[in-house]
Amino acid sequence: MKAVTYCDVGDFRVAEVPRPQLDGSRDALVRISLSSICGSDLHIYHGHVPIEAGAVIGHEFVGVVEEVGPEVRSLRLGERVVAPFYAACGHCHYCRRSWWSQCEQKATFGHGTYFGGLGGGQAEYVTVPDADLNLAPIPAQVSDEQAIFVGDILATGFFAAERAEIRAGDTVAVVGVGPVGLMAVICAQLFGPARVFAIDMVDSRLRLAEELGAQPVDSRALNSQVEIQRLTGGAGADSVLECVGQLSAIDTALQCVRGGGTVSTVGVPSAVSGDFPYLDVWMRDLTYRAGWANVHAYLRPLLDLVASGRLQPERIISHRMLLDDAREAYQMFEAREATKIVLRP
Ligand SMILES: [Zn+2]
Ligand SMILES: [Zn+2]
Repeated sequence: MKAVTYCDVGDFRVAEVPRPQLDGSRDALVRISLSSICGSDLHIYHGHVPIEAGAVIGHEFVGVVEEVGPEVRSLRLGERVVAPFYAACGHCHYCRRSWWSQCEQKATFGHGTYFGGLGGGQAEYVTVPDADLNLAPIPAQVSDEQAIFVGDILATGFFAAERAEIRAGDTVAVVGVGPVGLMAVICAQLFGPARVFAIDMVDSRLRLAEELGAQPVDSRALNSQVEIQRLTGGAGADSVLECVGQLSAIDTALQCVRGGGTVSTVGVPSAVSGDFPYLDVWMRDLTYRAGWANVHAYLRPLLDLVASGRLQPERIISHRMLLDDAREAYQMFEAREATKIVLRP
């Protein structure tokens, strides 16, 4: 089958690789109908992830159930499905407490042997372990282009918003409106804020955030902290959703939140450690939450929200391309010429 594979830093290639097989009795083989390129794929592309040559890339995908092991109970052949970006085991200490992102045997799709050795979704087929847990059927009203978001960035945006303690009438600021931040903008609005501010320095992102209901704040032109305080009568935002991960963005989030407010950060931190304003956080009664999304918990609720029309994540898709053109797609994505690229095999 065809697949996007890692060759070297900055060098992904579409190559012919063996079609994956069912390894265990609870596995399913999925025929991919659509995959997408994510900011985390760029971490691999830039050589920041330990990965072997030949590994298949891609952790955002939807497809159709092609084959199932004898112990798969809930899936039918031919059913449309979406997977979280990582697979959980379903029976460890954390999985039993519904905290699948902390699963002791968690493995990430499309990240090579070091991250669990699962295949990737930028391919024609992928094997999904413990398929009853790690695949969700897609309702008929939800398109592939909509469903592909629930397995990663829409769930991440929702996780950020849910943990930000947004109440009706609140003011929310989103720091960084790349694809995840844009998902945070639409998810924050589900919780009834009066206003959502979108802080970024890229015109196209600010425009898209505005189209999706946010008030843009251009951090090139204005000091974000001063501007958010000005817009909130001096107090700062009730909740700040940080979606970049650069330590400077986390600093911005802590500066823009009001005393007693909540910062919820989902960006992958750019450094292992750094200066954290412990005294300021204590003095100002801040709540600081960080983490990567517990995606399994959100798959079905998010699919229902999309089916009802309350979430339209597909509005950020900027390019529809063929898997064969993945090299070009990565070059465009790296150059920030594309917001979100989907690939069809
Ligand atoms: Zn992703
Ligand atoms: Zn587990």
